[in-house]
Amino acid sequence: MERTRCFLIGYPVSHSLSPAMFAAAFRALGLDWTYQALPVAPGETGELLAQLAGRGAVGVNVTMPLKREVVAHCRYLTPRAEAVGAANTLTFREDGWEADNTDWPGLRLAITEAVGAGALPRGGRPGVVFGAGGAAAAAAFCLAEMGLPVVIVNRDAGRGRELAARAGGEYVPWGNGALPALVGQASVVVNATPLGMGKGPADCPLPPGAVPAPDAVACELVYHPPETEFLRRARKAGARVVSGLSVLLWQAVPAFQRWTGRPAPVEAMREALFASIEAGQPKKRGAEDCGT
Ligand code: NAP
Repeated sequence: MERTRCFLIGYPVSHSLSPAMFAAAFRALGLDWTYQALPVAPGETGELLAQLAGRGAVGVNVTMPLKREVVAHCRYLTPRAEAVGAANTLTFREDGWEADNTDWPGLRLAITEAVGAGALPRGGRPGVVFGAGGAAAAAAFCLAEMGLPVVIVNRDAGRGRELAARAGGEYVPWGNGALPALVGQASVVVNATPLGMGKGPADCPLPPGAVPAPDAVACELVYHPPETEFLRRARKAGARVVSGLSVLLWQAVPAFQRWTGRPAPVEAMREALFASIEAGQPKKRGAEDCGT
């Protein structure tokens, strides 16, 4: 069977920017492939993946709230999916699905684009991650792989400690008095919470007085709106910034390459993303986006 069909599964998915981005990528390379978003409720993933395999699917992107649950339904796990415990990219192999986590290399690629391959932050100063969910886990492993001492800052102490232990880092409680100094010392600061999707200066993970250093890299994962309070504060401090849209683009690049075996047409994908945002996608639907 010729496998040329790709899907996005999660709930909700109607506002996702990925269908436009992948359609542009297929068009740019003259591939007669399709990419379709399917709303899927938790608990339905196993059956659906079996059906998609029978319908000529080669690739599936996975978004909230299925990134963890999907791992149990895959025959193969890449080391990245296994370490993070969550997958956003599935590829059909001859006899089953393989789960991978491209949020991890996607963040690294986005940082590399922002600072240049020769100027990547290295060991010494900490990498601070706000949040302890799936996106934070991918970010924590990415920063650990870059050799940075990882610090997880999270509201829920249990989740924060658990992620810090898995990524070989340390946990600092949300609102801790040491945070302004810690953020100021960090070489990379990542917002992996949904704070920034609302409005106003309080909609930001950085506590008052916490400012990234001018030579630090500030990475936002929220992409709707494209400009958040976190990015504004980091820019004002002179830090280099990585937007949520850039991370969204770069996590799709390894997925495209895995599925098609071809280099991803990055500029066509970027153009489609920005065009969708300008055209009003994702449509306003309360304070949510879906992360893919
Ligand atoms: P998740 O698994 O639900 O985790 C959310 C995290 O944010 C948790 O650690 C939670 O803390 C924290 N949080 C939620 N509301 C908060 C608040 N009001 N104040 C402080 N902390 C709060 O979600 P996720 O999948 O990691 O996604 C996180 C964000 O990244 C979402 O906005 C998602 O859209 C975005 N994302 C973007 C991309 C991209 O490509 N740009 C990729 C993936 C995700 P507790 O543990 O204390 O509840």
